Amino acid sequence: MKKSILFLLSAAILFFSACVSAPVRQTPIPEFQAASPAERKAVEVQYVKIGIILNTTYFTVSSVKDFTVTDASGKTLHLSKGNVKFSYYSDGRLGFGTFALDLPVTIDNTGDFIYVNKKAYRGYAAVYKDGGSVNVINILPIEDYIRGVVPKEADLGWHEEALKAQAVISRTYTLANLGNHKDKGFDMCSETHCQVYGGAEAETAQTNAAVDATRCQVITFNGKFANALFHANCGGHTEDPKYVWGTANTPEYLKGVKCDYCKDAPYSSWKQDLDESYIRKKLSAAGFDTGAIQSIKVNGVTPAGSAKEVVITGTKKSVTMNAYKFRLAVDAWKIKSVTFDSIKKDGDKFVFKGRGWGHKVGLCQWGAEGMAKAGKNYAQILEYYYPGTKLEKIK
Ligand SMILES: [Zn+2]
Ligand SMILES: [Zn+2]
Repeated sequence: MKKSILFLLSAAILFFSACVSAPVRQTPIPEFQAASPAERKAVEVQYVKIGIILNTTYFTVSSVKDFTVTDASGKTLHLSKGNVKFSYYSDGRLGFGTFALDLPVTIDNTGDFIYVNKKAYRGYAAVYKDGGSVNVINILPIEDYIRGVVPKEADLGWHEEALKAQAVISRTYTLANLGNHKDKGFDMCSETHCQVYGGAEAETAQTNAAVDATRCQVITFNGKFANALFHANCGGHTEDPKYVWGTANTPEYLKGVKCDYCKDAPYSSWKQDLDESYIRKKLSAAGFDTGAIQSIKVNGVTPAGSAKEVVITGTKKSVTMNAYKFRLAVDAWKIKSVTFDSIKKDGDKFVFKGRGWGHKVGLCQWGAEGMAKAGKNYAQILEYYYPGTKLEKIK
């Protein structure tokens, strides 16, 4: 398997596939794509670079077909199908067996799944140096990437129209955020920081059908990609981002809408007990040393019904903070939203009761599912949660 024939590539040919055409491969690694909207228009539906394994010193690649490994100098190794363990060497090169390669390196089997650390991916892999380690990047056409995102961002049991809405959102979000990790040589990571991406491993027939049915479709506002934010459950009204992140100049389509479609869904209402000592410890770690907490009160309510601020009164001092920051500081999994019905002290505990799950900005996912069940299609769902945006097909 390790015995290989060495080829030198004399020419680098760049191919760009149109959104509607079959994927065409690029070699060597394409330069990072330009970020301005005008430039994106021409290239955005091409390949995206997704960081799948970051800061590692070794990883495995396997393929059921013969595959090629090409390094920065143009040296190409043709390997038989099988499994290879790559290691990052102290001399700054990537190697396996007796071979040492100059980074960056591409690993490609021309059209079949490639398995990195035993997980299947479409497209091909590239390896970039990052300090004393490497990042493994999956490079693939955007539509193939979205196939690996929708099943990680949606509930697999959702109605097809809700899944289609999610596919459009994930595609739009991707195009609006290309280059999030440009300094590291890739577009997006595969975690919640950008979008959760599970590779081909995560795909299902239902989510792939939703991606295919909305192929190349995005939502725009005034000719630019809309900021297609979403959350699990709005609890009755979606939120203006200015109350969440202090964002200035909220675009019209994100100002918030009433939502009756999520009221019977999971987390439309919730209750959470938290020990006073737990809250105190978390707030202290976030830089708010209140001492023993005597009360937590809501200070001001947004038009959507959420807390603007909370006032924490402790034995050392009182702190007034943005409610969303409070939620993140204490525990965003346990305090599901800042739409509080009540916060009460009960002995050593605080009892939080609230509605919805998430930051509540943009599309309400469980509301989208409710709308789909009520007979609305994905275009109507998107128009409802992002009023004034345009559903467009990128050619
Ligand atoms: Zn990221
Ligand atoms: Zn809702």
